[in-house]
Amino acid sequence: MTETPPTDHGVATEPVDYETVDRRVLVVGAGAAGARTAIELVERGVDPEDVLVIGKRSHGDAHTMWARGGINGALGSLDSEDDWTIHAADTLNEGHHVNDPAKVETVTRRMPGLLRELDEWGMEFTRTDDGDIAQRYFGAQSFRRTAFAGDYTGEALLDTLVERAQELSIPYRENVFVSRLVADEGRVLGAVGTDLDTGEFVVFDADVVVLAAGGYTGLYGRHSSRDDENTADGPALAYQAGAALTDMEFVQFHPTGMVGDRYGADWDGRLVTEAVRGEGGRLFNSEASASDASGGSGEPGAPGGERFMERYSPDQMELDARDVVARAIAEEIDEGRGTEHGGVFLDISHRDRAFIEERLPRMYERFAELGVDMAEEPVEVSPTAHYGMGGVVVDDDGETDVDGLYAVGETMAGVHGANRLGGNSLAETIAYGAVAGEAIADRLPAPGGDSDVLHDRARVHLRDLRALSNADGDEEPEALLDELRELLWERAGILRDDDGLAAGLDRLERLRSRATDLAVGDRTSRSYEFALNLGFGLLGADAVLRSARERTESRGAHYRTDHPDRDPGWRRNVHYRRDSVGSPRLTTTPVEEPSEPVQTALDADHELDYHQLE
Ligand SMILES: Cc1cc2nc3c(=O)[nH]c(=O)nc-3n(C[C@H](O)[C@H](O)[C@H](O)COP(=O)(O)OP(=O)(O)OC[C@H]3O[C@@H](n4cnc5c(N)ncnc54)[C@H](O)[C@@H]3O)c2cc1C
Repeated sequence: MTETPPTDHGVATEPVDYETVDRRVLVVGAGAAGARTAIELVERGVDPEDVLVIGKRSHGDAHTMWARGGINGALGSLDSEDDWTIHAADTLNEGHHVNDPAKVETVTRRMPGLLRELDEWGMEFTRTDDGDIAQRYFGAQSFRRTAFAGDYTGEALLDTLVERAQELSIPYRENVFVSRLVADEGRVLGAVGTDLDTGEFVVFDADVVVLAAGGYTGLYGRHSSRDDENTADGPALAYQAGAALTDMEFVQFHPTGMVGDRYGADWDGRLVTEAVRGEGGRLFNSEASASDASGGSGEPGAPGGERFMERYSPDQMELDARDVVARAIAEEIDEGRGTEHGGVFLDISHRDRAFIEERLPRMYERFAELGVDMAEEPVEVSPTAHYGMGGVVVDDDGETDVDGLYAVGETMAGVHGANRLGGNSLAETIAYGAVAGEAIADRLPAPGGDSDVLHDRARVHLRDLRALSNADGDEEPEALLDELRELLWERAGILRDDDGLAAGLDRLERLRSRATDLAVGDRTSRSYEFALNLGFGLLGADAVLRSARERTESRGAHYRTDHPDRDPGWRRNVHYRRDSVGSPRLTTTPVEEPSEPVQTALDADHELDYHQLE
């Protein structure tokens, strides 16, 4: 088991070999958030040689690459009435008013300028006829505000940031897995990792550590991430170092994941981007609608089913909020109106082939390779765990409760509340990368920190890692991870209740005990990495289950069948932190009020004219 109890300084006895890397700022994570933080640091005068960005994969291979549909910012390219206050109001409405309004304001206010900056850096945005950055509809937004590069926005974004970082000579190190941060007396001292190529240990001595290590939805049975990403590394590392987590119960289930029984197990849960609905895609079940005896919409190519969103959301239809559409699909499937493969149909075949090829090129290609022509027939989809709104508690600069420890991007919490608007997470990575980079550059602490404490603590952890590698127990880490995923899917999925959450916690305890008896290969093996992921996953799952049990209401993505209504008294955030003896402790705090301009936008109650969408 990877978990090491906190140990007093000075107990390391056995010699252990490791490399030491000394940098003033260590950025753990090389997705959009980590890359953007490093760029800001260097642009603000920090010497690139004082910075190091590390990732557990090779360069440019971060999860951000998978982002497809777009990135939000109120540019008003097509809808000139849009502005940042309306973007903020939409974000708060979608977050069911448990977002941190100051963070929402930071992101929405900064995004138009940050999108223009990305454009200057060469990002390949799709353009309007006038050559401006085009913007598309995304669910639950009042205006077209989602900028995009076809349906490969994440790839275009990360390519742009990597190129910019290279121009600024920012050093990057690949394939290093960080398994522990070291903090003492409320200040971060560095990090401990394993080089996955060589199996060598590495200790990073740093004045500032930025966690940009992604989220936690890879802990769910059906999820849109890669299996080896989003395994709660960021939140778990922060928690172990003494920082608090919040909103962990809010997990977004994206309505449209690919259906494994139709496309093969490897594709199960993989995302069919919201852009398909944004560009006009319609959802059908497998039953002919009562109002349409001919079945379906009667249009060429439409499947012969009912366009069921008419029953759930007659105005917003397929572009209602993700939680509403996901629950509607789950209900259709549960009540026997799904496809034979356990999904529903998503159809965009009423659009021209050329339009689909231009606006959704990657989706079109992917399905074509699977023998499905999107211009002629529907695809099959069902909900998939997609985004964890929860994460690490940070202040307005992105700093955690631990001095010198920052969290950005999907690792941090606060922007999305109980549900995230599509296109807002890439926005958060860029905005908070810039904010944290700026704050760190302005007040970079003097070099120092107790190096002896760092090395003593690191050696204790490294001895545990040494014992973990080549351990010859009875349990396969990957199999336990799969069980953990099933547990969360069943007990903390789209629908939850107290009995299920309590049973989930009991089952988690049994998994935790089995995880002390692992069979692990050497330090370059996949099983070693799975074992480390399992340690983070057990912690992340505990935070989700306990926080979901604590919140006795339904709000946004958190739906409790035993408390189906929203409770105004629950306009609070649930925090999960370590108490003085190392056990998790839950507390709640009330949410702040929005600023006056944002409140004015909320009161104006802007709403997209959904009828434009047919
Ligand atoms: C299929 C899919 C489509 C999406 N589409 C959109 C979209 O259209 N618009 C939108 O706004 N959002 C979208 N999202 C969400 C968005 O992609 C992510 O929230 C965002 O990219 C997260 O970026 P990040 O920099 O915070 O983390 P990531 O890109 O996940 O990067 C994490 C980094 O941390 C490193 N790391 C992790 N753990 C460790 C460790 N233990 N040690 C060392 N390094 C570590 C990883 O190697 C990686 O470099 C999508 C998500 C998915 C899964």
